[in-house]
Amino acid sequence: MAAKIPIAQARMFNNVFVCRDCNRRVRTQPTRVIAKKVRCPGCGGSTFRPVRRK
Ligand SMILES: [Zn+2]
Repeated sequence: MAAKIPIAQARMFNNVFVCRDCNRRVRTQPTRVIAKKVRCPGCGGSTFRPVRRK
């Protein structure tokens, strides 16, 4: 079993969101996503979901 590395996990998942339309990852502040100030660089959409961690 690989050991969990909290710092690496935080870097990979904190403040990262996925575009609902094209699944592109965007790193930004959650407050900016809620305020819809974030545009997807791929499709220009503004609907995002948090990254799922497994
Ligand atoms: Zn997109």
